[in-house]
Amino acid sequence: MDLFDLHQNTEWPARLDQVLSSTPVDWAGRRGELADEPRGLARLQRLSAVPRFDLDTVADEVYEGILENALADSARGGARYTELRLPQESVVYPGFMERFESARSRVAESYPGFDAGAVLSLNLWEPTVREICDAFGDAAKFGLVGVELIYVPYAAEADWSRGRAVAEAAADAGLGVTVPAGAFNSANLAALAGIEQVDRIGHAVGAAADPGVMRLLADRGVTVEVCLTSAVVLGMVASLAEHPLPRFLEAGVQVVLGTDSPLRMGTGIADEYAKAASLGLGESDLAAVSERAKAATLPLARA
Ligand SMILES: [Zn+2]
Repeated sequence: MDLFDLHQNTEWPARLDQVLSSTPVDWAGRRGELADEPRGLARLQRLSAVPRFDLDTVADEVYEGILENALADSARGGARYTELRLPQESVVYPGFMERFESARSRVAESYPGFDAGAVLSLNLWEPTVREICDAFGDAAKFGLVGVELIYVPYAAEADWSRGRAVAEAAADAGLGVTVPAGAFNSANLAALAGIEQVDRIGHAVGAAADPGVMRLLADRGVTVEVCLTSAVVLGMVASLAEHPLPRFLEAGVQVVLGTDSPLRMGTGIADEYAKAASLGLGESDLAAVSERAKAATLPLARA
């Protein structure tokens, strides 16, 4: 069975810190401290806290080296295909897709059969979003497969007028669209299910508490990216056993797996499949998840 990781952040500052710092963050230790932190966004913020960096000052080979580092870790962890989310600043980084392509092909040399796609993370609140939309066509030509839309407020209903316009621009350029939502409650899930161009939703744990939202996701055929380790580390669920993955499948919601932030969370895609098995998913369920992932890599073929 081919393991697809369809939800992975580059963890740019964290990887840069690992590669360049003389005293890199000890992520295992940091994870241990999280238990004292209240569940929810505070944990996410704590886990995300690494020194800021300025992408402009990063040399070509370092940029490429970071991508290679992430993809090589992923391939080593058993992934057949990884969709990597690049930080928004990448879009102004010269030749960022050439850098990605060269990192990807070098990793594929060491891990034959491995493949990867690049997704650009976009902060919807930034004023440059409009210009970035204008660059979607070129980015798609250079091999970008999709965009991830980041928005505020995350844990309450957001205004989707701008998000809808960006999703339409992405789809028009042939890019796929994924949006993280519903990690801590069901906010934004119904709104996102109503945007035709949204192909996938990340996390969506909060859907389980709302039968109407579950039905909506199943009926729309939106694919949910489940990140089991992340859900526990960030406190989306109190324990792995409480993750609603089995209920998603029962409700007919399409599901794929992802590692989210493997460096910081200490996981790999093979672990994620093993954890899904521990929740009661049998061989045929896991094979179906893998098949779904193959069909749900961005950009989705549109009818
Ligand atoms: Zn995520």
